[in-house]
Amino acid sequence: MKPAPFAYVRAQTLDQAFDLLDEHGDDARILAGGQSLMATLNMRLSAPTVLIDINHIDGLSGIELDGATVRIGALARHNEVAASPVVAEHAPLIARAMPHIAHQAIRNRGTFGGSIAFADPAAELPAVSRAAAASFVLQSRTGTRTVAANDFFLGLFETAREANEILVAAEFPAIAAGEKTAFNELARRHGDYAIIGAAAQGGTDGGTFSNMRLAFFGAGDRPILAQAATAALEGKAYSDDTVAAAQAALDADLDPMADLNGPPAMKMHLARVITARILAELAG
Ligand SMILES: Cc1cc2nc3c(=O)[nH]c(=O)nc-3n(C[C@H](O)[C@H](O)[C@H](O)COP(=O)(O)OP(=O)(O)OC[C@H]3O[C@@H](n4cnc5c(N)ncnc54)[C@H](O)[C@@H]3O)c2cc1C
Repeated sequence: MKPAPFAYVRAQTLDQAFDLLDEHGDDARILAGGQSLMATLNMRLSAPTVLIDINHIDGLSGIELDGATVRIGALARHNEVAASPVVAEHAPLIARAMPHIAHQAIRNRGTFGGSIAFADPAAELPAVSRAAAASFVLQSRTGTRTVAANDFFLGLFETAREANEILVAAEFPAIAAGEKTAFNELARRHGDYAIIGAAAQGGTDGGTFSNMRLAFFGAGDRPILAQAATAALEGKAYSDDTVAAAQAALDADLDPMADLNGPPAMKMHLARVITARILAELAG
């Protein structure tokens, strides 16, 4: 299929993009890597009247360590993030997830900000953001605000971003001493969207789990923090009993919907499998 007709503007500055967003509201779409947007246009799932290309705006790219924060510009491409030494050292959970995101060609164009703004519930980075306690910087004509990842994902492809705002960066607290990360997903083929997956980050000092954050993707309408499971882990050492307690607690955390991959019971089973793998990785 071909997309419905639309106008295209290559914005040169944030101010120009804000003008266009203010003028067109919900009829405008920001174009970043285009790897998700163009598919939705071609399938006519979306029919905006104007695309605002933000790829040529200065200041939206780059990855840097600013004090104890890793700041990733919205336009940082997936492959740039995957190759970044700053990310590898200070935000290793992202580095673990990157190879699972789509395929090389898509990772050359797809952006970090696009993946967060799109908020696909099966995408890796929204769940990684929750597990790593990240925040997102949103800018509009009237100012800048920072929204915690925990408050950003509101539902299926729905976020706290207002129509007049551009996501300009993601901020990840640099991993603290004593924290570890783990990532696991099940997909039909490597690079496909996951059937289900999870990302974890937290303390493992002294051989016990503490302040663990375990976030699932492909398990609901948004990335989900498994708070009952991590409460079951608090202060416990890795053992078969600890793993079983966390797996059992998932009943309170997850209520997956049936999808093309299978029924809810299958997803719950796979969530438990993934949890066991993640805990073994954290303990290893
Ligand atoms: C075959 C295929 C397989 C894929 N597999 C995976 C996968 O396994 N895991 C995964 O996570 N993703 C996957 N993707 C999606 C890919 O990661 C995309 O790059 C990503 O979802 C969107 O990034 P983008 O820069 O291309 O955004 P775009 O497609 O340009 O935009 C996506 C949406 O976000 C909005 N948007 C983009 N940037 C901003 C911004 N800075 N501020 C506000 N709104 C913005 C756009 O208006 C649009 O609504 C796949 C894509 C394809 C085509």
